[in-house]
Amino acid sequence: MNRNTERICIRGVYFDKVTMQSAFAAAKDLISSEGFDYVFTPNSEIVQNCIEDNALYEIINSASLIIPDGIGVIYASKILGRPLPEKVAGFDLSKRILSYAAETKKRVFLLGSAPATNETRAVCDIAAEKISQLFPGIVISGTHDGYFSESESDNIVEEINASGADILLVCLGAPKQEKWIYSNREKLNVSFAMGLGGSLDVYAGTVKRAPDIFIKMNLEWFYRLIKQPYRIGRMMKLPKFLFGTVIYKLSGKDRKFSE
Ligand code: UDP
Repeated sequence: MNRNTERICIRGVYFDKVTMQSAFAAAKDLISSEGFDYVFTPNSEIVQNCIEDNALYEIINSASLIIPDGIGVIYASKILGRPLPEKVAGFDLSKRILSYAAETKKRVFLLGSAPATNETRAVCDIAAEKISQLFPGIVISGTHDGYFSESESDNIVEEINASGADILLVCLGAPKQEKWIYSNREKLNVSFAMGLGGSLDVYAGTVKRAPDIFIKMNLEWFYRLIKQPYRIGRMMKLPKFLFGTVIYKLSGKDRKFSE
């Protein structure tokens, strides 16, 4: 691990105090450094999951780089009086990383998203094709869909290792992808992994990202709610997290610890 950014504790999760630019610089360092490093991109929902299931803290905080992928985390950092500079969307960071991989001929493996059906190819394969068009020269060393049983996991790790991948994008949704990377961290023979939620759907074009205006106004969550109203239960974690953070601050429970 080769990280030299300051860390800010938000309700027990240690976020790196990064901008998109410094997060990308740190990711490049991790890709070229010795050993296996991974990046997590928690949003409010994940921090709230940690608060409700403390075992998750160890997993999330074990990452070499932890970036705030959610406006709720930025608001919480302000409420707690130690602001993080900006939201760093995992998807946007992944575009830079893929462009860097194409330039430097690093091999990329895509893991996750829906398998093939009678009508369509697996989303990871469609994403691989679109990524190859977006980043000419990129080497996709392999793909695997995200619907596999625990007993198949070791074979998938072997497939990734045998592909000679340097960079592994794990898109199983949170916190499944974080748990998967953590539990396979000793077996994976890649330099760098990143948990990226539904990003392969966006690359494949099966899910549309919010229009820029929503992103600029920090309303990406609202766009997702309109498009995927069934997410309402999960999304209620955002107000729960923010309201909880105000109470937490007012009750004096917050200790100003940072690393
Ligand atoms: N997914 C998967 N395996 C699973 C569950 C989900 O590969 O067992 C995929 C799913 O097909 C989708 C992504 O994980 O591509 C989750 O997307 P979502 O937008 O829900 O991500 P999150 O908001 O959790 O980051």
